[in-house]
Order: sequence, then structure tokens, then C-alpha cells
Amino acid sequence: MRVRAHAALDAFNTFHVPAQCRYLVTLEQPDDVPVFLDDARFANLPRLILGGGSNVLFVADYPGVVMHIALPGWKWLDDLGDDRLLRVGAGEGWHAVVRRSVESGHGGLENLSLIPGRVGAAPVQNIGAYGVELKDRFESLQAIDLNDGAERMFSRDDCQFAYRHSRFKAEPGRWLIASVVLRLPKRWEPRLDYPGVEAVLAGKAATPARVSDAIVAIRREKLPDPADIGNAGSFFKNPIVSAKRHDELKACCPDMPGFILADGRVKLSAAWLIERCGLRGLRDGDAGVYPGHALVLVNHGRASGADLWRLATRVRATVAERFEVLLEPEPLIVPNAMPSQMSSHGHR
Ligand SMILES: Cc1cc2nc3c(=O)[nH]c(=O)nc-3n(C[C@H](O)[C@H](O)[C@H](O)COP(=O)(O)OP(=O)(O)OC[C@H]3O[C@@H](n4cnc5c(N)ncnc54)[C@H](O)[C@@H]3O)c2cc1C
Repeated sequence: MRVRAHAALDAFNTFHVPAQCRYLVTLEQPDDVPVFLDDARFANLPRLILGGGSNVLFVADYPGVVMHIALPGWKWLDDLGDDRLLRVGAGEGWHAVVRRSVESGHGGLENLSLIPGRVGAAPVQNIGAYGVELKDRFESLQAIDLNDGAERMFSRDDCQFAYRHSRFKAEPGRWLIASVVLRLPKRWEPRLDYPGVEAVLAGKAATPARVSDAIVAIRREKLPDPADIGNAGSFFKNPIVSAKRHDELKACCPDMPGFILADGRVKLSAAWLIERCGLRGLRDGDAGVYPGHALVLVNHGRASGADLWRLATRVRATVAERFEVLLEPEPLIVPNAMPSQMSSHGHR
């Protein structure tokens, strides 16, 4: 366990905004967790669990302890019927795990290539891309209840996965995810239905590694690399509205895209809504809406978290005024100073 007091977090968030915390504690092995919980220095301070910092926005300094998760681990477990089980430590890099699995010929994770961050955060918002979500490849996870230090296993049902959501997002700071067991099909079938994937393969036979390469190429084309320009990927979730509300919206905007869900509700495109408001490329100082993708907010250089939050609030207000649809942010806003301001779903 490594402890730094009054640590800078600039390098621990992919927006690269300046922020400090009272303590930054890096947990490097499972035994560090009980040691951390017994340490009197941290007993009465608020705690934030942090992986790669690619889905957080620090709008101010954090007055408590940031627990930086660096727990390692990679182990193939006994097969389960038609599936192979892979247990990985929460501190492993997500994309590195994807690449290691596809390069050893195991398919299943390739559509989730190049998502930044660490394994432990993947269940928190049930990461998803190109038609696949973590829940589709998930078997179980081991977490530690930070209230009492007890270990607990979570099955897929226990996690209550939904679109960019899980029980861990609903109970922030309670569960420290220590490891995740992934379930990879032995009989692999590529998912190529997402626009553009098949075209990048250009007639070559699909293998897990080739599909992963294709996804990486498409993502590099579309999304800014946080190493070059600070961002946290999609800043807003796609809002979900009732069928009735969708009909009303279609009546005034016939070209509005919508994806009908199993329960009859409709998922709208947040990017389309923002774009239609003319906000793509908007800049307020160094905080901006990425010119190449309306859903991504970027730090053009020296924006603070508060600057980015102000821009996010402006984008949200503009979309709400034009379409009466509320956008909900995807990243965790830290410190959680404005929970009620942005926590509602996209229903009218
Ligand atoms: C360029 C870019 C592209 C992206 N594309 C996608 C995408 O396609 N799909 C997608 O779903 N996301 C995407 N994201 C968002 C982000 O990468 C994912 O949400 C990722 O899983 C976050 O991982 P992290 O380790 O950086 O988490 P962090 O940002 O460190 O934390 C995110 C949340 O998880 C919690 N958390 C982290 N680790 C643990 C743990 N071990 N136990 C309990 N809680 C924990 C934190 O408290 C916080 O609430 C993108 C981000 C960027 C910058």
C-alpha cells in the first residue's frame, strides 16, 4: 500500500483537470485492503474508489481519501460447460485484458476493445460498445464491503446490470470490486452488425484479434485519445423515453433516431440531440464539445473541472429547452456537490 498526502490528481483523470486529494492510497495487493481499513488516518474521511480515472470529472479538490485500485491478477479457471472462465484483478488495464485474451485466440471481448480504464470499473457502469455489454461476458465478481471489510461474491443477477448502470453505481463507495470473472464462449461467433465493422475487415475472415483490430481502428478514427486531448468518452448517456414521448418527438423531428428497447421504451441518441442544437464544436475557453463527436466533452488545454461542468450544464439546458429531454451525465462528478441537479432520467 502506497500513501501520498495532499496528492495531485491531474495524472489520475483522463480529463487532465487539476485537483488534489487529502490522501491518495494505492492498493497493490488484496492484503492492503484490511490494512487500509484499520488505518486510523483514514477512518473519518470520505472515500473515493478510483481506477484509471477515465469516467470521473473532478469539479473541485477531493477532501477525503482516493483509493487507487492496482490489484493485479490473471487466471484461467475450470471451464463451465460451453464457456471458459477468466478471473482478472480489478487493477488490470481493461484493453490489455481484451488484447491478451483475443491474441491467445479467445473471442468474446473484442467488441469492447480500446475502452480505457481498469477491470474493476467495468461492472460499475456495465461498459458497452459495438453491440456488446460487459454483462454479456460476465460470470461473477468478488467485492469487499467497505462498511465492515467483509468479502462477498456477486452473480450477474446480483449486480443488477442495466444500460450504463449497476448496483455499484447506485451504492457509490460501498463496494470495492477486487476481481472479476469473465465468461468467454468456446464456440465464438463474431458480432459484426454494428455499422462499419464489416467494412474495416474488408472481406478477411473474422478472428477475435482481427475484429478487435477493426474496432480499435474505428474508435481511433472517431474518438479523441485522452493522451492528446483530455476527455472521458461519452459525457452523456443516451436518454430513454416512453413510446408516447418518442411519437411526439418524431412528429416534430421525423429524422430523429430512436432504438426501441425490449420493454417498449425508446433510446434516443444524445449525440444527435446535441448536434441538432448546433453545439458540436462549441467552446467556452478551453472547455469544449469535441468537433468530431458531439457527445464528447474535451479539455483543450487548461480547462478546470468546474469549466467543463459549466459547459455540460449549458449543453444539458439547451437540449432540455429544445426537446424537453434531460441528459444524464455518464461520468462520476466529484465531489458529488450537485447530485439532484443532474440525476434525473430522460423522461418528460
Ligand atoms: C476515450 C474514451 C472512450 C470511452 N469509451 C467507452 C465506451 O465505449 N463504453 C463505455 O462503457 N465507457 C467508455 N468510456 C468510459 C470509461 O472508460 C469506462 O467507464 C471505464 O470502465 C472506466 O474505468 P476507470 O478504471 O477509468 O474508472 P474510473 O473513472 O476510475 O471510475 C469510474 C467509476 O467506477 C468506480 N470504480 C472504479 N474502480 C472500482 C473498483 N475497483 N471497485 C468499485 N468501484 C470502482 C469509481 O468510483 C467511479 O464511480 C470511455 C472513456 C474514454 C476516455
